Amino acid sequence: MALRLARAVTGGLALLVLGLMLLVAAGRITVPPEANPFAPLDIRDEPGFLTAFKVSRARADPGLCRAALDRADLPFEPVADQVTGDGCGFSNAGRIARLSRAALSSPVVLSCRAALALALYERHGLARAAREHLGSDVARIEHMGTYSCRNINHAPGGRRSRHATADAIDIGGFVLADGRRLTLVGDWSSEDATRAAFLRDARDAACRWFDVTLSPFFNDLHRDHFHLDMGGGRACR
Ligand SMILES: [Zn+2]
Repeated sequence: MALRLARAVTGGLALLVLGLMLLVAAGRITVPPEANPFAPLDIRDEPGFLTAFKVSRARADPGLCRAALDRADLPFEPVADQVTGDGCGFSNAGRIARLSRAALSSPVVLSCRAALALALYERHGLARAAREHLGSDVARIEHMGTYSCRNINHAPGGRRSRHATADAIDIGGFVLADGRRLTLVGDWSSEDATRAAFLRDARDAACRWFDVTLSPFFNDLHRDHFHLDMGGGRACR
């Protein structure tokens, strides 16, 4: 008897949830976009419980990915697909020169999914870390390249790097709106605790938005940059 009642209640609740979702999907019930799973990803929204779901949809769909960058007014100039036979090349890539607040030290070619991760990272990770620790905004991200047809760690053999598909960016430092400049090589172990704390928070925040984040914690090859990539498994080192 109790089991039958429990089943009836569960079934009723499931129907209620389904009905509500259909009404939300049809636009008959209005919910804020960040709480609406059917609303497209907006990079400018404060990240919430649906953000990871929306990002995973956008990174898998080039149209949704580009629309998300467009919506946030982030110019992403499409670059023709390049496919070469030796594991190098890219598709759905574009040239990007600036993010919400920070410019890149020079324009880069990135896959849309990597550009999306970078945009989310800059807006919701870097900006907050810089304001919290240094009281200023990040005005420029100094990078050391994105697309490069090469293997991991420039090794003569082994696997291709995510750089070979324009899914990765190496970041060596940041220039703040007030003119201060921080570099991984100079400030990771800085005696100025706020500088070191900012860089550690900048690393931690990258782990949320990128699949792979490698920092000076990882090995000596990364003493002077963060390697951030998409599609290369999961690592936060
Ligand atoms: Zn790299």
